[in-house]
Amino acid sequence: MAYRTVSYEAATLLSSMIPIELSALEYEKIQNITNAGEKADIRRQTTQDWQTMCDSVSNARWTHRLLLDVTNWIYKKHGMLNYHIIQVLTEHGNYLHKFRITETQKYIICENPKDNAEHTIFECDAWTAKKRKLYEGLGENRLPDNICRRMLSDKKSWELISDYMEHVMRTQINEEQKLQ
Ligand SMILES: [Zn+2]
Repeated sequence: MAYRTVSYEAATLLSSMIPIELSALEYEKIQNITNAGEKADIRRQTTQDWQTMCDSVSNARWTHRLLLDVTNWIYKKHGMLNYHIIQVLTEHGNYLHKFRITETQKYIICENPKDNAEHTIFECDAWTAKKRKLYEGLGENRLPDNICRRMLSDKKSWELISDYMEHVMRTQINEEQKLQ
């Protein structure tokens, strides 16, 4: 798998930081305005521009597919991001998929050629049991398409999904270290 960079758009969205060019534009418009309603309108415009920017990027389709809605994401009311979740959401870095689990509960090298986040987290039969539990907890199985909508919908769903992602990533790292 080729090394990917986390796109600028994904990074700003995950950190809820308005991209610098939009922020500069907003600052220009807002500096002489004191009316709160007008200020809110300008912020809404910025968020819309940010959405347009995200919709048009081609270098982070996975992330875009997951993050979908700028407004919901930047105004999220719960949920802590950590290293593993960011890795999954951005499909970034050295988390190459290697393992699936056998009937004897041993992890072996997975031969699936699809070495990407979608396979690793959501398709691989290494996590069937764990994934069944996740879907039971969420009461649905439309992941990954629905994943951020569910993460952002309520705290319990966020925790179920992030625990699952962490489990997958940590297990991979542990098993990898055993091989070395
Ligand atoms: Zn696999």
